[in-house]
Amino acid sequence: MNGLVGEDLTSTAVLALLGRTGPMSRAALARELGMSPATVTQVTRRLLAQGVIEELDKLEPSRGGRRGRLLGLVGNAGRALGVKVAADHVVMVDMRLDGRVTDAVSAPFDATALEAVPAIVELLRPFTQPAGEVPPLLGIGVGVPGTVDRPGSGIVDAAMLNWQKVPLGSMLGAALGLPVLVENDVNALGSGERLYGRGRSLNDFLVVTIGRGVGLAVVAGGHVYRGAHGGAGEFGHVPVMPDGPLCTCGNRGCLEALIKDDALLRTARSAGVIAENATPADLADVVNGADDRAEQARGILHEAGEILGRQLAGLTTLLDPEEIVVMGEGTRSWAWWEPGVQAALERHGPRRARKPAITVEPYTDTIWAQGAAALVLAARLDGGVGGVRAHRTVQGVGGEATGRRLP
Ligand SMILES: [Zn+2]
Repeated sequence: MNGLVGEDLTSTAVLALLGRTGPMSRAALARELGMSPATVTQVTRRLLAQGVIEELDKLEPSRGGRRGRLLGLVGNAGRALGVKVAADHVVMVDMRLDGRVTDAVSAPFDATALEAVPAIVELLRPFTQPAGEVPPLLGIGVGVPGTVDRPGSGIVDAAMLNWQKVPLGSMLGAALGLPVLVENDVNALGSGERLYGRGRSLNDFLVVTIGRGVGLAVVAGGHVYRGAHGGAGEFGHVPVMPDGPLCTCGNRGCLEALIKDDALLRTARSAGVIAENATPADLADVVNGADDRAEQARGILHEAGEILGRQLAGLTTLLDPEEIVVMGEGTRSWAWWEPGVQAALERHGPRRARKPAITVEPYTDTIWAQGAAALVLAARLDGGVGGVRAHRTVQGVGGEATGRRLP
């Protein structure tokens, strides 16, 4: 496997940890990140040469052995903008190298509009020209619910946005004059988790999302696995039921055609559990209630959990992850999914091997945007994103985005 992405993530993991916890010795970094001392020495040597970290005139507190010199982050080393694009809204964060979010904005968005990309440009522009003293802007990371050819070129195919071969990366780069990296949103989430979340001490884990769709990021050996054409991790479209319901991808019986929000609503509606115009939040209300309908609704989610659990058993057999991190809007009802998931994993998972831990991360829109920003911070440190240069300016950029600050 190509070593670039893994090394990027390793560098940024070191920076993120130093940013969160303050100065540390090399030995402590190795311990906290589950890396070998040799790897940490190699990575910190590079970061020292790049001027992003510095050796402090201080030794670590005594632990009985030789005391190592502390390494610290050089202040103002850089920041990145991260954007999550959904069909009806975009979320943007301004994030420092240590993972600290200094600003977050959500704006309504119409992915099908002719001026969709210019609207993203207008949302981002004020953040590219900030007033006052802020660290240099290293670039922009964008997560989209679809397939991206390569993060650097950023050509997007996304049924959910009704986009075909949209050159999002080059359009944003040309309009804003900054390096831009575009990636599948769940893969971006995987990068973010590896650097700043549950995965920061794990090299092999899965991020699974449930809700509007079903997604997957495979982190293997510290790398987010993209496949030959950037299409890896399309978990929602693995075939489950030969003659099942029609999926948005055109096939029948895909995983997400059975267990995404819309599919669960359809099942609940036809069982008479919810009203014709009910939303996913209504289903969550019913399921947490105390009447007869609640029992039926729980049965629907239990079955969804079993379907998901069988697929996770397959993934576990194939990939042997240390942990499976479940995220997404659908986790608000996880308590009712979980028994089905665990039962299916028990029944169909690998017999003798270690079972992966399943953890649930609370759902927030900004986590997705943070993952997108992490793409830039990771790549920048290896010089990757520096090779992406805006070379022309798009004239007549219009559109408008009415920004709403997030708390
Ligand atoms: Zn499908």
